[in-house]
Amino acid sequence: MTQKMKTATLCVQAGWKPKNGDPRVLPIIQSTTFKYDNTEEMADLFDLKKEGYFYTRLQNPTNDAVASKIAALEGGVGAVLTSSGQAANFYAVFNICEAGDHIVTSNEIYGGTYNLFGVTLKKLGIECTFVSQEASEEEISAAFRPNTKALFGETISNPGCQILDIEKFARIAHKHGVPLIVDNTFPTPINCRPFEWGADIVTHSTTKYMDGHATQVGGCVVDSGNFDWDAHADKFPGLTTPDESYHGLTYTKAFGKMAYTTKLVAQLMRDLGSIPAPQNSFLLNLGLETLHLRVPRHCENAQRVAEFLNNDPRVAWVHYSGLPNDKNHALAQKYLPNGSCGVIAFGLKGTRETAVQFMDSLQMIAIVTHVADARTCVLHPASHTHRQLSDEQLREAGVAPDLIRLSVGIEDCDDILADIKQALDKI
Ligand SMILES: *Cc1c(COP(=O)(O)O)cnc(C)c1O
Repeated sequence: MTQKMKTATLCVQAGWKPKNGDPRVLPIIQSTTFKYDNTEEMADLFDLKKEGYFYTRLQNPTNDAVASKIAALEGGVGAVLTSSGQAANFYAVFNICEAGDHIVTSNEIYGGTYNLFGVTLKKLGIECTFVSQEASEEEISAAFRPNTKALFGETISNPGCQILDIEKFARIAHKHGVPLIVDNTFPTPINCRPFEWGADIVTHSTTKYMDGHATQVGGCVVDSGNFDWDAHADKFPGLTTPDESYHGLTYTKAFGKMAYTTKLVAQLMRDLGSIPAPQNSFLLNLGLETLHLRVPRHCENAQRVAEFLNNDPRVAWVHYSGLPNDKNHALAQKYLPNGSCGVIAFGLKGTRETAVQFMDSLQMIAIVTHVADARTCVLHPASHTHRQLSDEQLREAGVAPDLIRLSVGIEDCDDILADIKQALDKI
């Protein structure tokens, strides 16, 4: 086919391309290793002279087929699956940073990423400055240092549901000669493709909508191929100077637009090894086949639930960018014209106890440490996912102590609303 296929078709058809007599469905190649007829063939693979499979920690056909589907959906040149969203964000940054470097990130990010950047990267000698994504370009620029290597944000923040001004962030990043990395987990490429707005690298927790059925934990790093590493060669020596662990090969010279992706596999997967099991990638692929059907239904249901909550006198506040009075509404119309996602953040009038009582009164909607699932679920970040953060850090990360994160599923919306109504009546 010569024409570029549309998103819905890519969800179903991209990735696995069976040849004559091959299985129609993506096979699970649950094998650690691959056989070769002679020594030299395998040696060429180790030298990155030839493409091929030799050990699943580096590459596996099932994993690669699913990665290439996600790359196609995002409009990237390459993608790598990881064993979790945490690993994806770590690799995305660590692929271009080392001890002595620095990154700038929005403070409106997932609690796990906040810890990864603020605590764990610091132990590795990489410092991080958190900025408010609503600050002016000048204020955010002031956080950059000569050793800054990346700018980071989430298209829609988890759990605050704030929307990133991707073009503004891309301008700031590029002015400082660094890539913009965007975690696109919540909108998925169905509702937003950050590369079209200037982002350079996209990450995902595929655990969420991409899988959609809560069957596997996984992540993905996608490269647009657009960032010119050689133009900022002094900042990115890992990509632009010889890698002694690969016989002095230079990634940008040897692989061009695939430099970032190849280095991520050849160095980080080789040495750190956060690969997904092929079985998990198979499950992820089943989820991806219906992503384009599920995401609009999540948005439609969430819009109705957000409107209901917004009009209920017992509700103190609602963050959902589909509401015309939401402060992110204008940004959502620009970046997410078809809808944002199924996640709503809201607070109830009353105390922290009121939130707990509401949640404990829900019958169909389950309290789970998960989000972006086919089944409606709910979580109180202050007492669950964000427990490690102090009240000040909570507020910095955009998480009010009374915030309830409601992840609206794809059930009949009448049943979702009925459960919420009966629980509100019990507070
Ligand atoms: C869940 C999540 C992560 C972490 O992903 P895991 O798959 O749980 O490791 C990262 N970013 C966002 C936005 C998330 O929602």
